[in-house]
Amino acid sequence: MKMATLLQPVRGTKDLIGEDAARHFHVIETARRVTRLFGFSEWQTPIFEDTKVFSRTLGETSDVVTKEMYTFEDRGGDSVTLRPEGTAGICRALITGGLTQTLPQKVFYAGPMFRYERPQKGRYRQFHQIGIELLGAASPLADAEVIAAGWRILNELGVAKDVVLNINTLGDAASREAYRAALVAHFSAHADKLSEDSKLRLEKNPLRILDSKDEGDKALVENAPLIYDHLTEEAANFYNGLKSSLAAFGVPFAENPRIVRGLDYYNHTAFEFVTTALGAQGTVMAGGRYDGLVEQMGGPNVPGIGWGAGIERLSMLIEPPQAAAQPVIIIPMGGESEAPALDILNTLRAANIAAEIGYSGNAKKRLERANKSGAAYAVLVGAEIKLKNLTDGSQDDVAPATLIERLRG
Ligand code: ATP
Ligand code: MG
Repeated sequence: MKMATLLQPVRGTKDLIGEDAARHFHVIETARRVTRLFGFSEWQTPIFEDTKVFSRTLGETSDVVTKEMYTFEDRGGDSVTLRPEGTAGICRALITGGLTQTLPQKVFYAGPMFRYERPQKGRYRQFHQIGIELLGAASPLADAEVIAAGWRILNELGVAKDVVLNINTLGDAASREAYRAALVAHFSAHADKLSEDSKLRLEKNPLRILDSKDEGDKALVENAPLIYDHLTEEAANFYNGLKSSLAAFGVPFAENPRIVRGLDYYNHTAFEFVTTALGAQGTVMAGGRYDGLVEQMGGPNVPGIGWGAGIERLSMLIEPPQAAAQPVIIIPMGGESEAPALDILNTLRAANIAAEIGYSGNAKKRLERANKSGAAYAVLVGAEIKLKNLTDGSQDDVAPATLIERLRG
């Protein structure tokens, strides 16, 4: 007999089943609930976009654009890309949806992202993010509120104790210009020791070197100049405003001058919630301010601030969520009891009580299965109707009219 080859999931992808699924959806539901509390509404944009949505915005020297994008030509000859992150698509939707006149917009999203990376613990090719974007607010109060919403989610997920918030400023255009010059001077003096990637970054975007994962680069980064010494008065005021607003929201933070974020569109605020509990994959939630992005995409000048968080990494940190209560199992005691059993099944479901009926087997088999299922109750439908407590084995007759009341306890 010829055996068909066993089909495997694509490298770097993963099925969500059982407890993995329960963890994943618990993260999304928690974020959905908290962001609603903070006044955000959920959007969903397509998982693929015109390649230019990302290539024009994420930065030509960013890791994502240089080596991680899933880009292909579709059958019509158009270049499309599976989204590697959420912000660019939300900004594209803000513009094409004509929403740049009704600001601010407070957006929550959840869904798959795609990056061609080397798969390892906490790093996949299809992974998932939750994220928020606050579009149309220029004050550091908005940055603090966006961060506070993230902090609340981490608290409600029970992982805040393992996580530290690092914040930094990237300044405004003038600060960056001055800082860029200082960085070029510093790294040029050691250009021979830079990685090949960073030599290119030195020409195109020296700030990016601060985010390098190369060990040699990291040593040079340690002595690099700090942006704090190059901030304009306005940028320094913004950063101070952020820090006092974070304090007002009760969010603890540490300042870390090395945080620049992996994408080019950020200015002023940059931040990461990091943990030591996941080895090298320590960033669980990260974001910043991106005031130039919407304009860069062809829209008006709309400031923005947001973050994205990896659901897989959060799922690994949380305790297993409490399993939902198992449905009540309805058991017909003989063939003639099928019809009344279905009546009871329908009545319970109509009353929003989760109920199930087996598809085959005699009463004994069905009762065995009910016992194994983890359900708390079975309803035995024969000449009488009996409610059986599967936890202690007791059972008693129950009138159909009182069944719902009994099950609601
Ligand atoms: P890293 O430094 O770990 O590569 P990044 O800077 O590329 O992260 P972002 O682009 O800021 O990450 O994405 C936000 C979050 O999405 C990350 O903090 C992480 O939790 C998650 N994330 C990013 N890439 C992956 C991936 N390949 N697999 C799983 N989660 C990921
Ligand atoms: Mg990355």
